[in-house]
Amino acid sequence: MKYFIYTYGCQMNEHESEKIAGIFRELGFEECSSEKQADIIAFNTCCVRENAEQHAYGNIGALKPLKKERPDIIIAVGGCMTQQPGAAEKLRRTFPFVDIVFGTHNLSDLGEMVKRRIETNKKVVEITEGGTVPEGQPAIRNSFPNAWVNVMYGCDNFCTYCIVPYVRGRERSRKPEAVVEEVRALVKEGYKEITLLGQNVNSYGKDLEEKIDFPDLLERVCGIDGKFRIRFMSNHPKDFNEKLIEVIAANDKICNSVHLPVQAGADRILKLMNRKYTAAEYLAKVRLLRERIPDCSVTSDVMVGFPTETEEDFLDTMRVVKEAEYIGAFTFVYSRRSGTVADKMDGQISDEVKKDRIMRLVELQNDINRAQSAKYEGRTVEVLCEDLDEKKNTYLGRDQYGKMCYFAYGENILGKFVTVKINDCSGISLYGDVVSVE
Ligand code: SF4
Repeated sequence: MKYFIYTYGCQMNEHESEKIAGIFRELGFEECSSEKQADIIAFNTCCVRENAEQHAYGNIGALKPLKKERPDIIIAVGGCMTQQPGAAEKLRRTFPFVDIVFGTHNLSDLGEMVKRRIETNKKVVEITEGGTVPEGQPAIRNSFPNAWVNVMYGCDNFCTYCIVPYVRGRERSRKPEAVVEEVRALVKEGYKEITLLGQNVNSYGKDLEEKIDFPDLLERVCGIDGKFRIRFMSNHPKDFNEKLIEVIAANDKICNSVHLPVQAGADRILKLMNRKYTAAEYLAKVRLLRERIPDCSVTSDVMVGFPTETEEDFLDTMRVVKEAEYIGAFTFVYSRRSGTVADKMDGQISDEVKKDRIMRLVELQNDINRAQSAKYEGRTVEVLCEDLDEKKNTYLGRDQYGKMCYFAYGENILGKFVTVKINDCSGISLYGDVVSVE
């Protein structure tokens, strides 16, 4: 019996697919490389942008002939898309061949749902509201030597463009002991880079009885023995504070790299987005971070085409991007999401204008990326060997600042820290020679 999983969206979803894989493995299924060989096919969907949703709908629809040919295969659809109001009904009408529909709060019951489907041959739909903090779920990780660890779920920020608070529920923190134990076990297994995940990690602990915040949690994770790196995401600039900067500065295990999504550079747009900071406040935090940790890199999410965005507003975004000098940025076009405040705003921007702005923004960020690469001229850096590019026959991995580096080596060095002398930094990625292996 075999399983195949489609995953859409963010790292949170990537990690949840690892948990879905863990559930299927416990039921006795093995992973396979194509949906055609599978006995159970799961879709872990995303609804943050329209194209992710369209993509998922397209792939579910494409299974109709397969289901007709093999009616016994089980098709399960879950994730953010299913948690939207009316989504289960829409799925039932559009894809009557789907067997299981599960919401974001029902993932831990998926094993039971599969058993029920097999025993009763009836469709199973479980979409509940409110949230739990699931613990002890098995996960089949396929990102070695990197591992994701949830520190919290949900979001209370209600940025006006974002659907996440509606589909992921209110903020819920995991107990610090649970996080520390999970990281300890991963480090023991040989994982070398742990990314602590939450929609807004800076809110960590607010809902716990114990008085603890995210910097405190980071310090506890740093107390785990062994050589490994810690990253975390996402931060909300309104909550990113000096205490966190001090903890990053004081602990070598935490990468000197912070993901601090700005979203927009015009105060009027930031206000409409309900981001609760101004561009000046944002840049002041970036400056503070770099004063305290001069080599700290910053990455960001930057959006163009939010309703009513003028050319002047867009140029403000370009100014912030220039000044912040991101080592990398996820640049994207605003996508209307039904159920959000921004969807109902007047002044939606035409696709043509959005396209023009995104191209100019990408060009600017590419120039900044190249300028960041040029700073590596003559440098030797420590890189975690994360993957093998079989076509190019080179290994690849990132340094602590998040810069991607390619290098060849005659032996398997996957999962090892390597020292690389950079000899080509003319593009966005770096190329170099291995000087030593840990
Ligand atoms: S902080 Fe804003 S953008 Fe991020 S998940 Fe929460 S509502 Fe969405």
